[in-house]
Amino acid sequence: MSTATTPAVSPIVDEPVPQPVRWGDAELARLTTMVRQNSLFYYNGPQTTALVADFRKHYPLQHLFPCSSGTASLHIAVAALRLKPGEEIIVSPITDMGSVIGILYQQGVPVFADLDPRTYNLDPASVRRAITPKTRAIMAIHLCGNPCDMKALLAIAQEHNLVVIEDCAQAWGARHQGTPVGLMGDFGCYSFNDFKHIACGDGGMVGTNSAQYGPTLSKWGDKCYDRAGGTRDPEELAPNYRMSEPQSAVCVAQLGKLDDIVTKRNRAGSLLTARLQGIPGVLPPATHEGNFHSYWFYFLRLDLAKLKVSRADFVAALRAQGVAANAGYIPMPVYRYKVFQNHNFFGGTWPVRDYGATTMDYRKVDCPNAAAILEDGVTMPLNQAMSDAYIEKVARAIRTVAAQLAK
Ligand SMILES: *Cc1c(COP(=O)(O)O)cnc(C)c1O
Repeated sequence: MSTATTPAVSPIVDEPVPQPVRWGDAELARLTTMVRQNSLFYYNGPQTTALVADFRKHYPLQHLFPCSSGTASLHIAVAALRLKPGEEIIVSPITDMGSVIGILYQQGVPVFADLDPRTYNLDPASVRRAITPKTRAIMAIHLCGNPCDMKALLAIAQEHNLVVIEDCAQAWGARHQGTPVGLMGDFGCYSFNDFKHIACGDGGMVGTNSAQYGPTLSKWGDKCYDRAGGTRDPEELAPNYRMSEPQSAVCVAQLGKLDDIVTKRNRAGSLLTARLQGIPGVLPPATHEGNFHSYWFYFLRLDLAKLKVSRADFVAALRAQGVAANAGYIPMPVYRYKVFQNHNFFGGTWPVRDYGATTMDYRKVDCPNAAAILEDGVTMPLNQAMSDAYIEKVARAIRTVAAQLAK
């Protein structure tokens, strides 16, 4: 397809991808104060105390535990459920491994449900079909910053007495019908890893309003030690997933920038989505009416039946026009990863299956919508440094390429 790969003489997007300055004076000021402390330990640490107070201004959760990663935050939430081996948590097949790692370490079973083809979030009907007597929870993963259909998921959870864990790692600042993500389920879990909207290198936060689970969060992230009581006689097994003062110092400064970052990303993403409506062969992502998408990145689909070329050729044509487009997101649905296909979770074995607590066979799992999304999806960076003018160029480039390559 020479039309798809010949570089344009003058690309429509004639500038590099704008890059925001992510850390600066605010972080330095906090870090300077931090290094003059005589302890960098999180418990009662001034930076971590400030982090919890500031976090609560954005996410008013009663019980919060700052931790070492988003993966840790999700593991802590799962651990708080005290799963029996073989109990199940329903998850999305398009996510980060961090969503499922904690479930497997707690001897639980991730059960993959299929996705809505336009929001890329859990399809409530598929979730309903995935429920068994062993189901304990639904993990609502707000992919790319687009809120899940929480109304439907919460209704299913209530009907079946299930816990809802919200994975908000990609969805800082996103709102479902006006409510920030992480406040509607039983747990809200957040990531401060380097790539997220706000970041401290690596860090996380887990929170809940539950009087049952709330007081146990710290024990599941801090070796089951009782810091408040100062005693050491762990009743249960728990890892060390503590935050530390350097990370907290950076996080406090980052939280101060959250509203601005999210406002700008939503503006850029919404503008692009509006401009991509009605282009033959291009399917922009859908956001449910009343929800606020915080666009961690931009994820559209191609309607390949309406195009003359493959996804690879379409993406090559976009790149020739200066669009930083990539074919696909993760390479395959999570259940297709080697670790799942080989059930290789603990030294080549999977105790919960080997000892009869589950019959799950990941080689038989099939979520066709998730697979299709990854086969025709195109991702693009999106960030707070992108002006309207830049987004207009990206939209014009996509429109031009689609017009050339539509059937
Ligand atoms: C990033 C991410 C995680 C894990 O967060 P880490 O801080 O990298 O451990 C979990 N879930 C989703 C959806 C993510 O994007």
